[in-house]
Amino acid sequence: MRVGVIGGGQLARMMVPAAVELGIDIAVLGESAESSARIAVTAVGDHTDAATVLAFARGVDVVTFDHEHVPQQVLRALVDAGVAVRPGPEALLHAQDKLVLRERLAALGVPQPAWAGVEDAAGLGAFLGSAGGAAVVKTPRGGYDGHGVRVVREAHAADDWFADGPLLAEELVPFRRELAQLVARRPSGDVAVWPLVETVQGDGVCREVFAPAPRTSARVERVAREIAHTLAGALDVTGVLAVELFETEDERVLVNELAMRPHNSGHWTIDGAVTSQFEQHLRAVLDLPLGDPSARAPWSAMVNLLGGPADGDLDARVPRAMADQPAAKLHLYGKAPRPGRKIGHVTATGDDLDDAVYAARAAVTLLQD
Ligand code: ADP
Repeated sequence: MRVGVIGGGQLARMMVPAAVELGIDIAVLGESAESSARIAVTAVGDHTDAATVLAFARGVDVVTFDHEHVPQQVLRALVDAGVAVRPGPEALLHAQDKLVLRERLAALGVPQPAWAGVEDAAGLGAFLGSAGGAAVVKTPRGGYDGHGVRVVREAHAADDWFADGPLLAEELVPFRRELAQLVARRPSGDVAVWPLVETVQGDGVCREVFAPAPRTSARVERVAREIAHTLAGALDVTGVLAVELFETEDERVLVNELAMRPHNSGHWTIDGAVTSQFEQHLRAVLDLPLGDPSARAPWSAMVNLLGGPADGDLDARVPRAMADQPAAKLHLYGKAPRPGRKIGHVTATGDDLDDAVYAARAAVTLLQD
């Protein structure tokens, strides 16, 4: 079997070892020959161009994704040409368009922040009035890592964004922490659910993940699991689905957004779970039996490497990080360091969460300084 991945970022890169282990051929349509997933890039081209994507898809059995930026018309063209697209366009739309997602969650009765689609400053003003004077405004499409997300307290604070269409306004949720529930679903309907994790964000970017989410009530665990299970089925997801959640002080669980691909909140599974999200994604899109999603260690801590050393020479830091933290698992994405850019992550596992967090942070610090 040959899986085609659109997009050559680190998610495609981390699918490669899983594919090799399972004897699956993997081909990547990369943005450039130097993409993070370059070892598997078989074609270089524009993922928004239907002809380019169709030509790539002809050589594979199933098409899946490293990101959700392939336009709907390109996805539909693939389906019309008889290509197996997993997840399909209908499902993916809910990860591409935050307004579509909010409407669908409302229809399904899934808990989420109070929200409204707003067309102009007057609309935003009205929402601010109903939401206690503060809101989070989001561009429905194209946002990532905090781009396209803004906290506002004034009706005109998003005027520069209205030109591209309506915006999503949400209540500013006073959450206690952020959680993520990762699941995988295969076309025949089986679902595998990993342990619920805690994610720590800074400036809209994921920094750290603790698995399982520490000090979590059985009720929160159950609700998160049910939400993810419901969404995977209702949206007909194939592959990995990450459900980003807010947990409030009173233990409500609200859906923030979805990703339908391996996700930063699941990187810990490479070293900390019986089946990694990358292996599971390949199994799911090929409609193979899913692997066991259980944790292999009591605790896993994943820390992102954001930006790298100031002089850009990451290679020079690697040996001392390895020497200082021999049990930490380094994952480097082959990307040039730039301020704030995700260029790798480190996972540590063990019987004690604090020890795991310490080891992963220490390795990242040594890679960065
Ligand atoms: P992105 O598409 O960039 O990942 P998100 O919608 O996940 O955007 O928002 C990025 C971060 O902003 C979230 O992880 C969270 O920390 C914060 N955030 C988003 N929506 C809200 C909200 N309604 N209330 C409070 N914080 C929010």
